[in-house]
Amino acid sequence: MAYDGTMIEEYLVFPLYLFYGMAFFAMGVSITSRDTRASQLKIARCLWLFALFAYTHALLEWYSLYLILYSVSFPVDLLQSVNLVKLVLVLVSFSFLLLFAVSILGIVFPERKNTLYLTVPTLVFLFFAATLYRYHGSAGFSFSVADLSIRNFIGFPGGVIAGLGLILYSQTVRHISRRGALNFLGAGISLASYSVLAGLVPSGGALPLLGGPIELYRGFSALFILYFVMHALHIFDVERKQQIEERLIRFAQSEKLHSLGKLAFGIAHEINNPLGNVSINAELLKNDLQSTDQFPLYEKRLIAIERNLDRASKIAKELLFFSTNKETDFQSTEIDEILKSTLELLGSRRNAYDINLSLMATGPISAIPWKLEEVFLNVILNAMEAMPEGGRIGIASERRGARVLVRISDDGPGISSDVLPNVLDPFFTTKAVGKGTGLGLSICFGIMEMHGGSIELSSPDGAGTTVVLDFPIGAKNDV
Ligand code: ADP
Ligand code: MG
Repeated sequence: MAYDGTMIEEYLVFPLYLFYGMAFFAMGVSITSRDTRASQLKIARCLWLFALFAYTHALLEWYSLYLILYSVSFPVDLLQSVNLVKLVLVLVSFSFLLLFAVSILGIVFPERKNTLYLTVPTLVFLFFAATLYRYHGSAGFSFSVADLSIRNFIGFPGGVIAGLGLILYSQTVRHISRRGALNFLGAGISLASYSVLAGLVPSGGALPLLGGPIELYRGFSALFILYFVMHALHIFDVERKQQIEERLIRFAQSEKLHSLGKLAFGIAHEINNPLGNVSINAELLKNDLQSTDQFPLYEKRLIAIERNLDRASKIAKELLFFSTNKETDFQSTEIDEILKSTLELLGSRRNAYDINLSLMATGPISAIPWKLEEVFLNVILNAMEAMPEGGRIGIASERRGARVLVRISDDGPGISSDVLPNVLDPFFTTKAVGKGTGLGLSICFGIMEMHGGSIELSSPDGAGTTVVLDFPIGAKNDV
């Protein structure tokens, strides 16, 4: 026989190899046709390796079909080169699978990423080189031996590791879609089985125990991989939908706060004048009465009036922070310095707290320093008020690309999930009457908007609160 043949019935050869190759080609197409640029899923960044494996594998199957059908009529000297081409295709294709396997392991075990990237391929290729060397020049060397050792030492570990990697990875996407996770699991299992069939059993052989041509089983498992991979890729649609929904919710929230802020600002502005008027008159009345002997009779009432006036004007003043008129006070500001000066402002209040400061020299941003102080002060005071008996407060700054992140966390009781969506609303407070105005965080929101940044509160598992303040390095001055 001219070519390392096959024991499939002749009439089966053509459809079997055709569909086998098509399954892999379709896998490649379904991956590369998907737009995963916006995806946060780490697998999106290494799927191209799997797509390259699939395309080269499709090419390999179709090339094999071509050889089975026509190599009988090839001149002997041409056979060497066509067999070599096939060998190269096997090697390239399974190498992509191995690289994909290592990348997905790196995703599942990020802390061992570098070791994995280095050791797994090195070991595999060393084994492979050792077998080739053993046979090289000996009578035992043939294309089928080389083909089998590529399959044994690259294809088999590549497929099994990639399969296991996909199985482990499926657990990490369960929170996005359970069905997606199941499909990743299915893809992992069928890929691992395929690698046993294609990596351990030589081509042209029969399946041990069950019998029947190995190509038939490989073809079927290729179809299974295709089915599961195509369905697993739907996870990107689900993720996209979630991203859009989140953005819409955030947008609606920000719109709502924006218009509430404007309304509050308008009211505060209107109320401020009459309040000032009342204050002056109360003051005059007090002076008038002080000189009469009836004063002790009215003193208590007057003090109550003054206290409530103070409170009303304090609220009106805080509301004015919503002012979104053009700010010209933007200047180059070191966030780390502002954080330190905010802590100084707190004076002895901070003694009861274990404040863990971790500042990463974030560099200057364009901001209004005293407004940032207002933000940090509000957030830190909230943390302190959440832990009246004292506790741990973490304050960390970090530069990430073109942004600076400030993270302020506490070990307090946290914010329950039904309260969390409301905390930024003006006047929303869970504190006792007279204790909280409910304005702190909405003022922070307004100031963060003014700086083109954002504020996000989270309370994982309802224990402790983390506030993330996200500033762009170049400010949005035109708010
Ligand atoms: P106030 O502090 O006047 O109540 P804020 O706007 O500052 O108003 O906060 C609104 C609400 O958000 C608070 O009443 C509280 O329920 C919740 N909150 C804010 N920060 C924290 C925190 N660190 N821990 C627990 N709850 C918090
Ligand atoms: Mg507050």
